[in-house]
Amino acid sequence: MRLSKFFLPVSKEAPSDAAIVSHQLMLRTGMVRQNGAGIYTWLPLGYRVLKRIEQIVREEMNRAGAVELLMPTLQQADLWRESGRYDDYGKEMLRIKDRHDRDMLYGPTNEELITDVFRTYVKSYKQLPLNLYHQQWKFRDEVRPRFGVMRGREFLMKDAYSFDLTEDGARAAYRKMFCAYLNAFNRMGLTAVPMRADTGPIGGDLSHEFIILAETGESAVFCDKALLDLPPPGLDLDFDADLTSEVEKRTQFYAATEEMHDEAVFDALPDDRKVSARGIEVGHIFYFGTKYSKPMNAVVQGPDGQMVPVQMGSYGIGVSRLVGALIEACHDESGIVWPEAVAPFDVGLINMRVGDEACDAACKELYAAMSAAGQEVLYDDTDDRAGAKFARMDLIGLPRQITVGPRGLADGKVEVKDRKTGDKQEVSIAHMLAQLKAS
Ligand code: ATP
Ligand code: MG
Repeated sequence: MRLSKFFLPVSKEAPSDAAIVSHQLMLRTGMVRQNGAGIYTWLPLGYRVLKRIEQIVREEMNRAGAVELLMPTLQQADLWRESGRYDDYGKEMLRIKDRHDRDMLYGPTNEELITDVFRTYVKSYKQLPLNLYHQQWKFRDEVRPRFGVMRGREFLMKDAYSFDLTEDGARAAYRKMFCAYLNAFNRMGLTAVPMRADTGPIGGDLSHEFIILAETGESAVFCDKALLDLPPPGLDLDFDADLTSEVEKRTQFYAATEEMHDEAVFDALPDDRKVSARGIEVGHIFYFGTKYSKPMNAVVQGPDGQMVPVQMGSYGIGVSRLVGALIEACHDESGIVWPEAVAPFDVGLINMRVGDEACDAACKELYAAMSAAGQEVLYDDTDDRAGAKFARMDLIGLPRQITVGPRGLADGKVEVKDRKTGDKQEVSIAHMLAQLKAS
């Protein structure tokens, strides 16, 4: 992508109304534009990051055996009357009437809708286990939308729903999601800590929140340092195997949010293992049994011929919140430092002297070779000052920067900078092109 043809409305000043660094940086780099309280337009740079996160989540859901579909944002109130949640949900639910005066709502979550899909098509235990998910916009009329996309009113969520014949089956489904979540967050470059959580309006008796530690997090969290040091289950995990030990390996350590915190248990930990921090909730999983299937009559026939309500769980990831959470975890004084897996572009190519024949030709050749090798390149072909170009590249935080200038070119070299370490190296163009061809 040529920067001169891209849409990157970067601004120099830090916006005065943004309280936390991720919100400031998202506005400064032109990733989002706020259209109303908690409602955002995803501008091209931000949209690229959102799509990459969405894709990692998709791949890890699929690997764990979940199946993707897409439910609508607008739902009929009738389904929510069946579950009893239409009146319970309160003011966070945006209620709408259509032209026929029918009660509708913009979905804050989808348990009712997916249960309706399930009961329409699935009648026998032979079709189980089943896990269906989608990534769709939600609306919650939050009292205090704040911190940019971290607490929006309209936000993108991945929500998965598992269906099993037995409680044991449902608990196994829960463990799959537990492991898949750790892998997904790890691929994004994040350490997410699973913590026992309250079940809230979703209901149920087993629940974990996945928390990223960050100073600006909304909740106080407490955990054992040993848990932070554990590697994720890994992408070669066999999801058909019994994952009890994978989960217990982690749940044996103390980890709790404020609501679930037990001072006495935490105090008993050795001092060098006590982590008391703030955290951002990026995922939340629930096992709630027959809370929806019973009132909505989602029943399946078991092997003995009896009809029983299906056992369910639901599993959310805050896809749009993750964009902010990632920046909270990955930035420095010059701007964002994207982990490679979620960066909007892999490489920033800077032409120091646009219009100079040799510089233009070298950039063109490198751009073509990197693109052919599958790298996404943002090519700064503008005639801005060198200093402004460097500052902008640092601000938007692409993992690698390649600078092409007349001085280096005289020796057939370009400068390659690692955004994270700041490490700079002179690299021969011929060598780079040969490597790209081989890759
Ligand atoms: P919170 O406690 O932060 O209000 P929640 O517990 O109400 O979140 P869930 O119903 O568990 O949220 O939703 C699943 C995930 O969706 C959350 O873990 C979070 O990452 C994300 N999420 C929830 N509310 C918002 C919001 N207002 N803006 C952005 N993301 C959100
Ligand atoms: Mg939650």
